[in-house]
Amino acid sequence: MSITRRGLLAGAATTPLLGGFPAVGLAETRAQSRVRPGQPGWPSPAQWDELRQRVGGRLIEVSSPLRLCDDAKATACDDVFKELKNPYYIGDNVGLTQTTGWVDAWTFQPSVYAVAAESAADVAAAVNFARENNLRLVIKGGGHSYLGRSNAPDSLLIWTQHMNAIALHDAFVGEGCTGKAAPQPAVSVGAGAIWGHVYNAVTTKGGRYVQGGGCLTVGVAGLVQAGGFGSFSKTFGTAAASLLEAEIVTADGAVRIANACANPDLFWALKGGGGGSFGVITRLTLKTHELPAQLGFVVGAIKAASDTAYRNLIGRFIAFYADQLFNPHWGEIVTLRPGNVIEIKMAFQGLEQEQAEATWQPFFDWVVAAMPGDFVYRAHPGVVMAPSRHVWDPAFLKAYIPGALRTDDRPGAPEANVFWAGNLAEAGHFINGYASLWLPQALLATEHHAALTEALFAASRKRPVELHFQKGLAGAPAEAIAATRDTAMNPKVLDAFGLAIIGGEGPPAYPGLGGHEPDLDAARRQAIEVAEAINELRKLAPDGGAYFAESNFFDPNWQDSYWGTNYPQLRQIKQKYDPDGLFFVHHGVGSEIWSADGFTRLPS
Ligand SMILES: Cc1cc2nc3c(=O)[nH]c(=O)nc-3n(C[C@H](O)[C@H](O)[C@H](O)COP(=O)(O)OP(=O)(O)OC[C@H]3O[C@@H](n4cnc5c(N)ncnc54)[C@H](O)[C@@H]3O)c2cc1C
Repeated sequence: MSITRRGLLAGAATTPLLGGFPAVGLAETRAQSRVRPGQPGWPSPAQWDELRQRVGGRLIEVSSPLRLCDDAKATACDDVFKELKNPYYIGDNVGLTQTTGWVDAWTFQPSVYAVAAESAADVAAAVNFARENNLRLVIKGGGHSYLGRSNAPDSLLIWTQHMNAIALHDAFVGEGCTGKAAPQPAVSVGAGAIWGHVYNAVTTKGGRYVQGGGCLTVGVAGLVQAGGFGSFSKTFGTAAASLLEAEIVTADGAVRIANACANPDLFWALKGGGGGSFGVITRLTLKTHELPAQLGFVVGAIKAASDTAYRNLIGRFIAFYADQLFNPHWGEIVTLRPGNVIEIKMAFQGLEQEQAEATWQPFFDWVVAAMPGDFVYRAHPGVVMAPSRHVWDPAFLKAYIPGALRTDDRPGAPEANVFWAGNLAEAGHFINGYASLWLPQALLATEHHAALTEALFAASRKRPVELHFQKGLAGAPAEAIAATRDTAMNPKVLDAFGLAIIGGEGPPAYPGLGGHEPDLDAARRQAIEVAEAINELRKLAPDGGAYFAESNFFDPNWQDSYWGTNYPQLRQIKQKYDPDGLFFVHHGVGSEIWSADGFTRLPS
């Protein structure tokens, strides 16, 4: 189903929800198009100076390090491209994002100015300035949007990186919730913090668990607003479901609290409605959970000798997953590769090592029984466990599993600046194609195993198929499902046993930069392979839906894919808090009434 603009607007106009408008009716005339540098209406130097003063000097004229490539200073340019493999270098740079571009979709281009915000007051000043001067506004936290949502040329950027304070609470009660909600352990995090630093504070130092993402350099505000999955979200639910409160600057420049007791509609929209569409979050408070004593991982890789053996292996794994792993204990990824290899990188909690080994024993016994004729191990399987407090502890990881880790190798970089080796390929990458699809739990019923096996096999002929089991909540505890049901994400996530992700990427690249250009022909060929591969799975799950943060830039039915039946309500909330569409991101709520670059309002 695709949702038409006309239908939505008609619905929005009659909804009782709109009766409770905050004072967001803006004095300025509704803009039909936003202003670019050099055009009439672009703020004068004196006006920019005024903003600079209002934000305590924290207004930056943005220059990207990629500029060094302009005048053929080959060494300096090569150095920049080397640094693009360090996500901390990118994160510290106002003039970069973690993805350099996506073929035929978008290419990184810096904003004209940025406010390096340190407070909600700085953010409010930037929001007011953008609204009053009819500017294209963009927000960047960790800068990890694959779809270029924290990038807009000719814009004013609000950069939250320096708002990164982290404070733990033993008994948090949201503003206005006294007597209505029981105090609970929580953590308040500045919107620009990244997950690695949050885990270090909450788990390593604080002995608690907070639901965040897998990648350590992803930003907190971007992930929570997308929904947000990490290795153990099959146990704890999405990151959005753990949100207790947000401080947010809305389009009118007001600093608001959104929680279950204040602005509850906005609060709901922030839980999975997608970053960059409802305002600028300045602080988030997330529930913390009791930390399991130990966390465990199962790794291994099996290569099949023939297509027939590979089909059998996929079928056997599906049956094994449905029978033994489809429960709150198990998450993370199994990848089906075109070379007839299954790669296992699973995570678990709530089991002893012996229990985990016993769980997998029958599956590996079956594999071994067909060796060496049908299968060989590419990586011998193993089960490892670690005390939970050390799973995100940089010092422990550097000492005991250095191979799993990369560090920020710039001189003087903080010790806590680490990232998973598994995320290295994505640092600075240029995307060729990307798509995701939630796989309904009905496919795990025995009668569907053959069809699922065949679809996975067919897809794996084109591209590696990643099955992210922690990104579908079917099989999770009732409490986690209920909390996630109360978010704006597509309800399909509740019925999915996992999210299939299929992509293709190349190293950091930039069109037009000699020596660093993407191979566009190869990229386009790979984009086709990605589309063909995901279509094999879509035959079984035509309405599966896709994850907002990890999805196809070109999805024509994005409203339905990302939010399903929740979209009309999100559209109403957008209309209530941002009636003039100050906040725009690609395929974000309400973006259908703007041109693709967010500069021109489309005729209604
Ligand atoms: C290498 C990599 C690994 C990933 N791993 C995971 C994973 O394990 N699990 C998962 O769920 N997702 C994952 N993602 C997807 C990730 O969660 C999203 O891309 C997320 O939006 C990134 O947030 P950010 O702050 O880093 O990015 P940004 O690009 O800075 O922001 C993303 C979006 O949020 C908006 N935004 C940022 N800050 C604010 C704010 N303060 N207020 C309002 N809007 C804001 C931006 O405008 C933009 O639209 C991964 C992405 C990458 C690149």
